[in-house]
Amino acid sequence: MKQAKYTLPELPYGYNALAPYISEEQLRLHHDKHHQAYVNGANALLDKLVNARQAKNEIEVKAVARELSFNIGGHILHSLFWKNLQAYQKDKILPSGKIKEILEDEFGSFEVFKNEFTKAAQSVEGSGWAVLFFCKMLKRPIIGQVEKHNMHVLPLFPVLMVLDGWEHAYYVDYKNDKAKYIDAFWNIVNWETVNKRLEEL
Ligand code: MN
Repeated sequence: MKQAKYTLPELPYGYNALAPYISEEQLRLHHDKHHQAYVNGANALLDKLVNARQAKNEIEVKAVARELSFNIGGHILHSLFWKNLQAYQKDKILPSGKIKEILEDEFGSFEVFKNEFTKAAQSVEGSGWAVLFFCKMLKRPIIGQVEKHNMHVLPLFPVLMVLDGWEHAYYVDYKNDKAKYIDAFWNIVNWETVNKRLEEL
């Protein structure tokens, strides 16, 4: 049987589309090298498992499970992240429609949400992500942090929006100035994608 493999998704825009907020060089490195590495890592681990089973070799399940979760998590989060972004358009930097409503209901105003989400991205321990989850039980949006690519994930909570806070996401453009990178992010959020995810729940 031929086993399915993860593949690197193409970006939904050109490599220079997000400049000057995210440069072509930064985006190429991030997408072609870093994201690709998680795709390759996950596939290699799955192959390793198949080969070990065929050879009837003992498998270190704990170590493999940990690495798999890291690499698959990296692949999924990056795939969501690319679609969260779009080329800057002056009249599209603020949310509209359903996402605007639920953010205002939960946080009082978009500014309060933006401030909390920015803090989540800024303060995530080590390498990690700021994530806007949606709790289907409460029908409320919840801001979270995912450390690495797989720690503090809320099981089955769908993701509406993510911001990659790893240094590899911004070092070419912003060196160690993470705050400036996060500030730039708010100019290129694709709110239509966020609304689409919300509507598909
Ligand atoms: Mn990344």
